[in-house]
Amino acid sequence: MRRTVDTFGVANRMARRGGNRAGNGGPDPEPGTHGVTRRLFLDGGLKASIAAGVAGRLSILDLIAAPPASGGAAARAAAARAYDGEMIEESYGIAHRLRDGSLTIPTLQPEGPLHDAIVLGGGVSGLMAAWDLARGGLDDVVLYEKEHYIGGNARAGHANGTDYSAATWSLVRPKTPFLTRLFQDLDMITGFEADGTPKIRPELVGHGEDSNMLIDGVWYPDATTGADPKRAYDRMPLPEKDRHDLTAFYEEMHGWAKRKGRDGRPAFAMPVEEGSRDADLLALDRITMAEYVRRQGWGTRAFRHVDDWSSSTIGGGIEDVSAYAFWSFNSLGQGGEDIMLPGGNAWVAQRMADKVGRDRIRQGLTAVRVVNEGSEARVTFIDPFTERFSMRRARAVVIACPKHITGRMVPEMGSEDRRTWRDLRYGALLMGAASVKHTPVLKGSKIGWYNWGNGKLMQGFLVADYNSDRWRKGDASRPNVLCLWAPLDGRATRADLLEQPWSHWADRLADDLEFMVPGIHRDLTRLDVYVWGHHMVIPYPGLLTGEARGRMTRPLGRITFAHSDRHGMPSFELATHAGHLAAREAIQIVRSGS
Ligand SMILES: Cc1cc2nc3c(=O)[nH]c(=O)nc-3n(C[C@H](O)[C@H](O)[C@H](O)COP(=O)(O)OP(=O)(O)OC[C@H]3O[C@@H](n4cnc5c(N)ncnc54)[C@H](O)[C@@H]3O)c2cc1C
Repeated sequence: MRRTVDTFGVANRMARRGGNRAGNGGPDPEPGTHGVTRRLFLDGGLKASIAAGVAGRLSILDLIAAPPASGGAAARAAAARAYDGEMIEESYGIAHRLRDGSLTIPTLQPEGPLHDAIVLGGGVSGLMAAWDLARGGLDDVVLYEKEHYIGGNARAGHANGTDYSAATWSLVRPKTPFLTRLFQDLDMITGFEADGTPKIRPELVGHGEDSNMLIDGVWYPDATTGADPKRAYDRMPLPEKDRHDLTAFYEEMHGWAKRKGRDGRPAFAMPVEEGSRDADLLALDRITMAEYVRRQGWGTRAFRHVDDWSSSTIGGGIEDVSAYAFWSFNSLGQGGEDIMLPGGNAWVAQRMADKVGRDRIRQGLTAVRVVNEGSEARVTFIDPFTERFSMRRARAVVIACPKHITGRMVPEMGSEDRRTWRDLRYGALLMGAASVKHTPVLKGSKIGWYNWGNGKLMQGFLVADYNSDRWRKGDASRPNVLCLWAPLDGRATRADLLEQPWSHWADRLADDLEFMVPGIHRDLTRLDVYVWGHHMVIPYPGLLTGEARGRMTRPLGRITFAHSDRHGMPSFELATHAGHLAAREAIQIVRSGS
């Protein structure tokens, strides 16, 4: 049953991100009290589900005092570990040496031709930039990616006969001309409704049964199915105060999506510069979301719920994220709505790579230095395996790498007005890809795209082949991959990620999975653990409406800057838009010949 789009004419969205307060120096919060998955209804429908976090919290709050009844936690998983797997992470080695100043970069002469443009970084932002540079008329465009795969956070995985995404999973529905055109160019739109709303190819939209939550050992279709958060709350054994606060939270979310400023512009827009300049709205960027919640008088449960919302959508908890960022990002559905691509956002990254042209893409070389040199910009690369350095040159260079790396590659980023890149902070997350012999049967509900149970480390799991014929027509007990979603969010630190072996994380994830689906350990054949150490920029107060971001990312000689962090927040729309802007700037630089 399609509950949101078909029944209510609204889209739902699923949160799928993580933060790491501990990793950012904050205190470890109470164990087990973080991590909620939730949904948001847009466009005239009720705004969100509440059920997930609240009901799960009810359950988990009661449970954190003691391990699951079957007991044994890691010991049990370790004892029963009959599966294999690996820790899979980005190659951080060179970046860490750049950071520590322990990488000696030799003086070189450029090799090869003077390209029109070089793009650094093969995430969706860099892919967008390369594509736009080529169709903007530059013939000789080359994209360099440090990894041996393309897509960045939209990295593709494959196991048990199904594709999956190692991180990003869903897209926002286009509400801007930019995103509408991009979706058209990617052949994702079949036409338009009378009111101009794009019709997305049905096979790219979730088909129903897309979300469940676990309450005291039983799974329930979450509040999106009913589409009415109040009704969902009514099903839950919550104190009146909590129902009231949480309902108020979702009503706020709904309200913000429609609100306008006194200048008549939408309260929020993407990118944020296109939203209202009403001083009262901008003032929200001077307080944290935590302060906003306190001012509403919402109680502890709502506070935690909003905190979880924040860390799983926008990379940071509410003590870190500004109220402006929280409402703009979430009320506009930036985290992704019900466009759940086959195999996640890796699907779209691969199509973008095809548009760029695979012959333009070079993988496995890390850029370590970018400098302006007269009428060209020069890039020094290192091959991490051979440690061989080389230098290439172009009339313009687009850097689509996160600023914590970019800042260390570009000596001119040390200037007074640019070195604010050092203030940027990024969240961290683990994603486990669990190969299972059979797609699990859940107690109480049909398995959904996302099934969240709020374990000790992991929030819940996605089913990899959700948007595929395997799901639609296949054997219900087919082998599958469950994608285990674990924002660190104070449950572990970045240092833990570097120090602890695969078995440590695999045991914890497997134990959580066993808690959510008893008996599944017998079906586990493999559990790969993907580490995302600095994956989402955290929009702290002032980042979005202050001037530092613009100063930091404006063109620097022949260098322009992409990546989602250019817009101060992490989403597909903002990443691709940043790539589009940086390409436009680069084309202008090349054309002006200056
Ligand atoms: C776990 C997770 C889940 C997410 N889920 C969603 C979602 O469902 N929907 C959504 O809209 N957004 C989601 N996001 C946000 C996501 O970050 C953006 O949507 C988008 O994928 C970011 O793309 P990007 O190109 O800006 O950055 P990245 O994906 O970070 O790409 C940067 C690229 O630069 C490369 N690089 C870095 N340094 C160098 C160097 N020195 N030389 C060469 N190459 C280099 C990297 O390897 C990487 O490929 C999620 C993010 C994460 C981490």
